[in-house]
Amino acid sequence: MTNWLFSPAPTPSLPIVGAAARFPVRRILCVGQNYAAHAREMGHERAEPFFFSKPADAVVTDGADPVFPLATADLHHEVELVCAIGEDGEIVGWGVGCDLTRRDLQATAKEKGRPWDAAKGFDQSAPCGAITLGALPDPAATITLAVNGETRQSGRLDDMVWSPDEILLKARTLWDVRPGDLIFTGTPEGVGPLQEGDLVDASIGGLAPLAFTLRPR
Ligand code: MN
Repeated sequence: MTNWLFSPAPTPSLPIVGAAARFPVRRILCVGQNYAAHAREMGHERAEPFFFSKPADAVVTDGADPVFPLATADLHHEVELVCAIGEDGEIVGWGVGCDLTRRDLQATAKEKGRPWDAAKGFDQSAPCGAITLGALPDPAATITLAVNGETRQSGRLDDMVWSPDEILLKARTLWDVRPGDLIFTGTPEGVGPLQEGDLVDASIGGLAPLAFTLRPR
């Protein structure tokens, strides 16, 4: 038995719909600009998928509420379909995630050609609902996000530029994609700012919805 200098942090995990077992999170990969209209609103045209990442312990789940992050005056919501990689290295399930983004820090990073870690990979930046095991949700399913009851983002999964299978193939050219990896697959148009106390409701047809309130710091 390993004699640790101090107790290791617990393994981050997500609940699974209809199962007692939990999905252990190893790593979070995220795809940028994967819906045509959102890519255009961010000033980009269709291009190869590109990735960034968040630490595994950025997940917020089981109905927990993330705290409003440090160091931003422009926190944005991005609702996303999340792929969960199972024991065989294939997509085993799906969830609704929110790629919380410090847009002001991202703008600075883009302007200066710096990494996105501080903009994307901060603490509690990946709220995610329960994983539903099984096949890809209906491509015609809607993907929506509302803030305080007002719809801000609404799209369809088949608006994605790169499908989940294509994204996984691309990810495998860059990393050894392993069981426990999550892949956030990009967001439709309508991203926008969040304030302390805002209630966020995110849903994708056929999957467990995600809801959280941004706790004041
Ligand atoms: Mn995103």
